[in-house]
Amino acid sequence: MYNIWDNVLASIKQKVSDTVFVTYFKDTSLSSSENGKITINVKNAFISKQLSSKYHSIIKDAIINTGTDVNELAFEISSNTKPKVRPREVINDVPEKISSKSTHFATNNVSSLKSEYTLDNFIVGSNNDLAVAAAKSIIDAPGKRFNPFFLYGSPGLGKTHLVQAIGNALQKKDPNLKILYMPTPDFYNDFVAAVRNGKGNEFRKRFQKLDCLILDDFQKIIGKQGSQDEFFDIFNSLYQLNKQIIVTSDRLPSQIETLDPRLSSRLAQAGAFDLQLPKFEDKCAILRAKADLAGADIEDEAIEYIAENVNTNIRDLEGELSKILLMSEVRGITPLELINNGATSISHTSKPRPLSSKQIIDKVAKFYNITSKDICGGSRVSNIKTARQIVIYLLCSELSFSTTNAAKEVGLKDHTTAMHARDKIAKDLKMDFTLREQIEEIKGQLYAA
Ligand code: ADP
Ligand code: MG
Repeated sequence: MYNIWDNVLASIKQKVSDTVFVTYFKDTSLSSSENGKITINVKNAFISKQLSSKYHSIIKDAIINTGTDVNELAFEISSNTKPKVRPREVINDVPEKISSKSTHFATNNVSSLKSEYTLDNFIVGSNNDLAVAAAKSIIDAPGKRFNPFFLYGSPGLGKTHLVQAIGNALQKKDPNLKILYMPTPDFYNDFVAAVRNGKGNEFRKRFQKLDCLILDDFQKIIGKQGSQDEFFDIFNSLYQLNKQIIVTSDRLPSQIETLDPRLSSRLAQAGAFDLQLPKFEDKCAILRAKADLAGADIEDEAIEYIAENVNTNIRDLEGELSKILLMSEVRGITPLELINNGATSISHTSKPRPLSSKQIIDKVAKFYNITSKDICGGSRVSNIKTARQIVIYLLCSELSFSTTNAAKEVGLKDHTTAMHARDKIAKDLKMDFTLREQIEEIKGQLYAA
C-alpha cells in the first residue's frame, strides 16, 4: 500500500524551495477524493490562501502525475491534519506511477531545476553584486568568459538559488539545451551505482552530452576519490567543448581538503565568486521582496526588526519572515503588533549587544594566542601584525570607528596605516575562506550571550 499524498508531496518538494515546502506543504494531508474533487487538509487560512492562489497548478500537476484525475481542488482548515480518510479508501485503483526515487536522467534535458529560483526574485545587494554580474554574463554567453563558474559562500547565502537561476534562464532561452543540476552527493551516488552495475561508460557519456552542468555543494566531494577523478574527466571534456560548468561550494577549491590540486586550479581558473552576508539594507530589501512575493502586508518597522535580529543567513531571514506572517495571520493581528506584543522570539540569531573596543582587542588576542599588549605594542611580527589589522577592521565594521580612532586604540600614530589595515582585511576576506571563518568565529564569540 502506498500513500498518494506522500507521492504528491515528494514531487512538489522537487519543485519548490525548502522554505516554501516547510511553510506551506509539510503539514498538509489529503482529506478526500471524490469524483475528481480533491480536498486537502491545511492548518490555517493563511496557508489555504497561499496554496490556492500561488501553488494551485503545482499541486494539480503533482496529483495528475500520480495518475489521479482532478477537476477541482478544495482546501479544508483543520487543526488536526491527519487524514480523515485512510489512504486506501481514497485511492481505489490508482496506478503506481511515481517511483519514490526518480533518477536525474529520467528525461533527457529536464533536470531537477526548481522553477521558483529565478534571477528576477534574487535580490541584488553589495553582498552578491559581482556574482550576479557574472551570472548574467553566463546567461548571455554560456561557456565563454566565466567558465567554469565557481561560486562559494557560507550556507544559506543563496548559492543554490543563484546557480539554479542561471540554469532556468538558460533553459528558457533555449529549451533544447541539456542542463543538469545535481547536488554533489547525488553525483557520487549515481557514479558508484553506475560503476557497480558496470555502466561507468554510460554514466560518463550522459554527462558528456550536456550543455551545462551544475554541481552544487562541491565541498562534499571530500574523501570521494573515485568520483573526483571521474568529475575531472567529465570536466575536461565539457570544457574542451566550451560547455558551461558551474560549481558551488562553501569554501574555495584550495580549501577543499584532499581535492586534487589539478582540479583545484582548474576550478578557480576563471576566478572564484563569493556570496557574503547581507548588510542591514540588503536584508530589508530581501525581506520586502519576499513579503511582496507572498502577497503579504507587513510594516517597514517589522521588516527592520527582523533584519536587525537575524544575523545568520538569508535562509533564516526567510524562515523568520514566514513564521511571523503565519502567526500574524493566525492571530489576526499585524506583524508589527505581534512583535510589539513580544509574541515573537527569534531563536537562531545573535542579537548584537553593545561592544567595547577592549572586548574586541581581548577577544582577537585570545583567539590568536597572543596578548592585548602585543596588539597594542609596535611589534611587526607577522601574526601580531595580522591580529592588529583584524582588530582595526572589526573596530571599523562593528563599532563604526573612524580609522583615526581605530589607530589610537591599537597604539598607531598614523591613521593611514589603519586605513590600509582595514581595507586589506576587507579585501582578503573576499578570497580567503579561512580568514573569513576566523573572523566569523571571533564575531560569534563577541556577540554570544
Ligand atoms: P545556499 O545554497 O547558499 O545554502 P540557498 O540558495 O539555498 O543558499 O538560499 C537560502 C534561501 O535564501 C533560499 O530560499 C533563497 O531563495 C534565499 N535567498 C538567498 N539569497 C537571496 C537573494 N539575494 N534574494 C532572494 N532570496 C535569496
Ligand atoms: Mg545550497
